[in-house]
Amino acid sequence: MKGKYYPEPFKIKMVEPIKILTEEERLKKIEEAHYNLFYLDSEDVYIDLLSDSGTGAMSTEQWAGMMKGDEAYSGSKNYKKLVSTAQNIFGYNYIQPVHQGRAAEKVVMPIFLGPGKYAISNMHFDTTRAHVELAGARAIDCVVAEALDTETYSPFKGNMDTKKLVELIEEYGAENIGLIIMTVTNNSAGGQPVSMENIKETSEIAKKYNIPLMIDAARFAENAYFIKTREKGYEDKSIREIVLEMFSYAQLFTMSSKKDAIVNIGGLIGIKDDEELYEKVKANTIPLEGFVSYGGLAGRDMEALAIGLEEGIDYNYLKYRIGQMEYLASRLDEANIPYQYPVGGHAVFIDAKKLLPHIPYYEFPGQALAIELYKEAGIRTCDIGSFMLGNDPDTGKQLESPFEFTRLAIPRRVYTQSHLDLVADALIAIKERAESIKGYRITWEPKILRHFTAKLKPIE
Ligand SMILES: *Cc1c(COP(=O)(O)O)cnc(C)c1O
Repeated sequence: MKGKYYPEPFKIKMVEPIKILTEEERLKKIEEAHYNLFYLDSEDVYIDLLSDSGTGAMSTEQWAGMMKGDEAYSGSKNYKKLVSTAQNIFGYNYIQPVHQGRAAEKVVMPIFLGPGKYAISNMHFDTTRAHVELAGARAIDCVVAEALDTETYSPFKGNMDTKKLVELIEEYGAENIGLIIMTVTNNSAGGQPVSMENIKETSEIAKKYNIPLMIDAARFAENAYFIKTREKGYEDKSIREIVLEMFSYAQLFTMSSKKDAIVNIGGLIGIKDDEELYEKVKANTIPLEGFVSYGGLAGRDMEALAIGLEEGIDYNYLKYRIGQMEYLASRLDEANIPYQYPVGGHAVFIDAKKLLPHIPYYEFPGQALAIELYKEAGIRTCDIGSFMLGNDPDTGKQLESPFEFTRLAIPRRVYTQSHLDLVADALIAIKERAESIKGYRITWEPKILRHFTAKLKPIE
């Protein structure tokens, strides 16, 4: 059955035309892009589901706020508004703006991590893993087993496996674990939420072993919506109350504001009450990002971010937003197309391992499906699997990802129901010729974060 589409809680004031290339043109473009969708010009893409990061549509309030940019080098009005808004929403004393999520990671990670140290997370996002490794440490993922089973319903597949967390701490020694990182929602597991109970339990373990708990907060609002709609005892709590409680269990957060805060650029670091830590964060921010009161952002960006933080926790907006994922997923259900089930908060993660079982992990089924979607209908998506995971930093060998996903990330407030229908129809057409789809090999790759720039060739 087709799911009901929850209507947009906004109307359209400005439009951006998009163009549709012919199939012949698309085949040429993808070859010229070395079969890496990051190399495509956005002009050559019809529906761009590469990322939900920084791709959202700002509201009239946000655009109006851009005109209120106070571009003073120090102490701008917008900085003060951003700090007080974020203090209010998260309940933290110290807020440091940065230019995006990975900048927050770059500032924070070396404070806690170095050679011989480990970070344990429910799952590290790719840039988070990269900054753990750049700091000289190693990243360990510790997600619940349900996350690996893409077919069975479980309300909080993003959760930390707390039993395994304790075992890992005992095995590596608490003094060697620099950070425990809770990623909400769990992006790499398919935008899957983490329950309040799990955040609380993880926080108790962290406290017991005296390890700081950090939230990787990119999709904090979507996570709060899932807690409200799926976790017992939270039905009648507001998103705002849920967010406050979530953050009360951690000591600090890093955030890419390009997701749930619906801005095109921006990030935040939040520190609950540790003034000494705030001093260290400021000391790193100034040389890496810019002075404390702008952190790599223009005044106008901070204004849009302050407004976006509030818009992102609006219940009706979140209902529409998550509703888009649920609608697209319901179209895939009708056609028996496998995806990480239940659908996550910001994207539909197609299970390419199941759709293309004849392609082994080292020939990148997630990437193969992403290429096919572009060829089929000009849709741009990305691999979240072995192609993204890359090689072991110690041995240089290709790692096998537990998942082989093709991620259909939905930008916020950008596409309509008929765009989503077109995506579903393309996947259905691809499923029909799945057996004929070939894997890929890498012809060139950089050392770190290779999926952005690696070049590939189809296997003949
Ligand atoms: C996007 C993201 C980041 C990195 O943020 P950028 O703004 O892209 O630098 C970190 N963690 C998670 C979970 C993310 O989704």
